[in-house]
Amino acid sequence: MNPRQSDVLILGGGAVGLACALYLLRAGRSVTVIERGHVGGATSHGNCGTITPSHALPLAAPGVLADGLRWMLKKDAPLRITPRPDFALLEWLLQFARRCNARECRRVTAIKAPLLLRARAELEDLVRREKLDCEFQTLGTLNVYRDARTFEKSHVSAQLAAEFGIPIETLDGAACRSREPALNGSIVGGHFHPGDAQLRPERYCAELARAIVALGGEIHESTTSSGFRTMGDRIESVVTDQGEFAGREIVFALGAWSPQVARQLDLRIPIQPGKGYSITYTRPARYPRIPLSLKERAVCVTAWDSGYRLGSTMEFSGYDDTLNRTRLDALKRGAAEYLIEPEGPCVVEEWYGWRPMTYDDLPILGRTASLKNLVLATGHGMLGITLSAITGRLIAELVGDTSPSLDVAPFGPARFGL
Ligand SMILES: Cc1cc2nc3c(=O)[nH]c(=O)nc-3n(C[C@H](O)[C@H](O)[C@H](O)COP(=O)(O)OP(=O)(O)OC[C@H]3O[C@@H](n4cnc5c(N)ncnc54)[C@H](O)[C@@H]3O)c2cc1C
Repeated sequence: MNPRQSDVLILGGGAVGLACALYLLRAGRSVTVIERGHVGGATSHGNCGTITPSHALPLAAPGVLADGLRWMLKKDAPLRITPRPDFALLEWLLQFARRCNARECRRVTAIKAPLLLRARAELEDLVRREKLDCEFQTLGTLNVYRDARTFEKSHVSAQLAAEFGIPIETLDGAACRSREPALNGSIVGGHFHPGDAQLRPERYCAELARAIVALGGEIHESTTSSGFRTMGDRIESVVTDQGEFAGREIVFALGAWSPQVARQLDLRIPIQPGKGYSITYTRPARYPRIPLSLKERAVCVTAWDSGYRLGSTMEFSGYDDTLNRTRLDALKRGAAEYLIEPEGPCVVEEWYGWRPMTYDDLPILGRTASLKNLVLATGHGMLGITLSAITGRLIAELVGDTSPSLDVAPFGPARFGL
């Protein structure tokens, strides 16, 4: 049987793959999305849904390595590294460790800040243009501290972000509490980011899928890509458990699964799963209006009309798919230190997700050198929701051979020899 054909075949139906599909459809292409489970059902599902230019600094920053080593034996630490006999993980950690210095942190911030500012504007445009009903709000985010020394030290990072155009207001404890009355009396200070926003990620993905289908795009759920047929420097078709699919262009939006699938094409994509957790509740009476980051515990708190979520923590432990009770409980304990009413009345879902982490904390966007019709849209790390719309725009421009809206060279696969 001949493979089913479209202009662009997208592998992976998370926020990134779906946003690419929508922009490509709007550019006049026929598009098919292949998704192993349900659209938006993996990492794009239970994340915190914040849209954060304020996250302009990379994870690989001075001091992170020392924290990681110090926390190695602590099972509920915000950042946990558990080295295993896994060569790809060890190599990734080594590359990451080499970047934990001030010079590299500054270099990456200079690249990330303009990307994130552009991404924030693009996402709001997309939501409004396509009328995506996803609880999008522009209330900013607030990072809060309970420890005066940690707050003091955070000014260096805040200044660096501000230097690259990220709007930041520094507040004392009283000002934090008056801006966000759900906080308790222990807060000593914080940074408010008026340019940040939020949405409900599950609804965002469902709405993207609705818009795609309305424009004639095809989405095949419960369809797993299992191999490729190549001819010279092109992918002829993708083999799945539901038959073969072909596309003039293949967009690889497989998030944390990218390295596993890419191995079938002899490509080594340096992505590690950065595992995080969340607990979703019905909304408590005294919920925070502004999304919060509880800094010493690295817990993120987001409330929507439809619910309330505690999330975050970062664990490098390979593709470990267990729901770790200690780490889920750490979210609750962390929230209890900062909030008057830390939990909602009913637990709706306990969840983990694998962030697709690159060691330089930049996404991988662009064509590979060895396969001319393969376009990578992966490695979005902690910011895949924030970066989804701008990724969709850039990938549609790349496929259409139009000049990109911003310089994509720093995100090119070539930096990893791909
Ligand atoms: C706790 C936590 C909190 C977070 N908070 C935020 C936040 O506040 N803001 C933000 O911007 N980002 C946040 N993130 C990061 C964000 O969730 C990710 O960057 C984003 O979801 C990645 O999207 P994606 O489409 O690349 O990957 P995914 O959503 O994982 O999509 C990849 C898809 O590929 C599919 N797939 C895999 N293998 C195959 C195959 N062989 N065939 C077919 N399909 C396949 C998977 O089923 C999956 O649906 C958070 C992450 C975590 C874990």
